[in-house]
Amino acid sequence: MFFVEDVLKKKLDDDLESKLLRNIQNIVFEYEERYWIASHRLEKWMNESWPTWKPEETNLPEQFNGTVDCPECNQTWMVIGYHDKPFCFHCNTTIDAEECEDCGITYFTKDGCAYCEIEE
Ligand SMILES: [Zn+2]
Ligand SMILES: [Zn+2]
Repeated sequence: MFFVEDVLKKKLDDDLESKLLRNIQNIVFEYEERYWIASHRLEKWMNESWPTWKPEETNLPEQFNGTVDCPECNQTWMVIGYHDKPFCFHCNTTIDAEECEDCGITYFTKDGCAYCEIEE
């Protein structure tokens, strides 16, 4: 009887572990997929904006300052100053955000820079 319980418990633990492992794998996979989609969107946009730019060369176009943090998704896929509003390639939408001139942190325009507000 004890033996059966032990085996049963062991089996349950294994099921739990494999389920947990699957969940972790799904999260990692989802993250990688989103990362890939965001980088693909960014590359497509850059190719349209700078037709002479070649992605194989690691150097970014001279006119491009690079991507900044998006306050919405906290991923570094946002570009400022190229669209009407800052655009996040991870969210795939415009974000009502600004980059703080003092500390360089990005924030929602309506909220103001949280960092500099604390400093004052
Ligand atoms: Zn975003
Ligand atoms: Zn600031």
